[in-house]
Amino acid sequence: MKILLINPPNSGKSIPEEQYGITSIKAIFKGEPLALEVLAGNLYDHDVRILDLKVEPASALMETINRDAPDLVGITSVTCEADALIAIAQQIKKEMNQDAPVIVAGGHHASCDPDYFNVKGIDYVVCGVAKKSFRDLVTAIDKGQQVRIPGIAKTCPDTRLNLVPRQYSVEDLVDEHPPRYDLVKDYRETYVMGGIGKAGFVVTAFGCVHSCAFCSIPTLTGERYLTHSIAASIDCMKRLDMVSMIRCVDANTFGNISFARQFAAAIIASGVKKHIIADVRADTIVNHPDVIDLWQKAGLAGVVIGFEEIDNQRLTQFNKKSSVETNIKALKHLKKTGLKVIGDFIVSPDYGRSDFKALEDFIDTHEIQLPVPSILTPIPGTPLYQSMKEEIKIFDLAYYTFSNAVTRTALEKEEFYTLYAELFKKFHRHITQK
Ligand code: SF4
Repeated sequence: MKILLINPPNSGKSIPEEQYGITSIKAIFKGEPLALEVLAGNLYDHDVRILDLKVEPASALMETINRDAPDLVGITSVTCEADALIAIAQQIKKEMNQDAPVIVAGGHHASCDPDYFNVKGIDYVVCGVAKKSFRDLVTAIDKGQQVRIPGIAKTCPDTRLNLVPRQYSVEDLVDEHPPRYDLVKDYRETYVMGGIGKAGFVVTAFGCVHSCAFCSIPTLTGERYLTHSIAASIDCMKRLDMVSMIRCVDANTFGNISFARQFAAAIIASGVKKHIIADVRADTIVNHPDVIDLWQKAGLAGVVIGFEEIDNQRLTQFNKKSSVETNIKALKHLKKTGLKVIGDFIVSPDYGRSDFKALEDFIDTHEIQLPVPSILTPIPGTPLYQSMKEEIKIFDLAYYTFSNAVTRTALEKEEFYTLYAELFKKFHRHITQK
């Protein structure tokens, strides 16, 4: 089959820009569409292309459809791109009429809220880690078979989706077929990340066994933590020979400590020499500092840590199962190592002036090189959404970029966004001084 996989354009909207002319905090995603490269890897006997509309102009969509005439189009999206996904699907169906391809919606938002895509223009919705199930769907359509695949539903806009629940296992990762990095080779030069530079993405693990209230990652694997084989992950690092920086895009690279130890030892033994950036929980650093040290020998150059908050009560509300004291202990160890620290923080809409000041002071005191403050956003499908849904004031998902408050702010909105923008400005100065 001819298959086109589409990464939708940056389509998030910005309240601070629209209402107050603050342009400095608009969310732009610049990394490679690894999820699509992973899916393509398991479609090894089909003719697959990737269209990255974060790089290409909007006109490339119909030019590509008309030129390639795909039989099936798969479109991914995170929550703020959900309406862009639907618009792309409906444009293709409208312009191609009876020649339109089968259109499949997948990705983060489809996994969190599959019913959102139960609309005209979309034929199937795929939930969760889909390297194997998407191939099963393609095979069934190719052979004209009825589709009865757990985690995949045929759309039926007049009723609710009939989604067969699914279990997840390492077999879903299909280790033996690596991602098709070659399909984005023409875009590679544009994949440059703020504060990191040019980086290639590797996924070594999916899912998470923790259940932080704001996080959608556990949904992707039914709260299981699934790791690729060490050999498959090292193979991916080798395939990315055009970059020296590897961003492990797992939400929790060190989720299985004995595995993490073996993995680092295997990287060292393999002779692969890369600078690696990976996500780690603060409590993992505190409880297993030797693993971080071993990984540094394997090439770890920086870590992304979800500190989230500087207040224990809020950390408890987020079900983070960590504490400010643990975060500080982790930072002390990281300072000894010299690793770059990229720190995620959550700014709650109920922040007052003193909260903004306290966060700024914490980041200064602990010399966090690349702080990334996001605004607390109840993503549909998360426990946070359940607990906050009555408070939501903005329902247009294009604002769910983590840089807009979709619930009421305690401060006047303009002051809230001004203080938030000042945090960004100050942090930017901080980065350039390092
Ligand atoms: S924030 Fe991190 S630790 Fe918490 S559930 Fe998500 S991936 Fe797991």
